[in-house]
Amino acid sequence: MELNRCSRCGNFYVSNDNVCPNCSARDGVEFSTFKNYVQENGFNDSLNTISSQTGISVKNLNRFLEYEEFQNYQNELNNIEELKNAIGKLGNND
Ligand SMILES: [Zn+2]
Repeated sequence: MELNRCSRCGNFYVSNDNVCPNCSARDGVEFSTFKNYVQENGFNDSLNTISSQTGISVKNLNRFLEYEEFQNYQNELNNIEELKNAIGKLGNND
């Protein structure tokens, strides 16, 4: 356990979470929104575009990019994409 400063509201809190308990619900909702956006649209748009589409601030988007959970998620999406390509190539050989 360490003392962290919440990057959403600036309050200090003690936990290993990314934000303080007051902000965790909202942060979770926005993070899901961001993940859904990336799933549907890929990750080709600028953060400004994603921000205006989702209503999530660029500052928070930048934080989400650092989340280990997002990095794992992105790897997963890449794997799915590679799998699709591989399957597509198999199909083309018929
Ligand atoms: Zn907070």
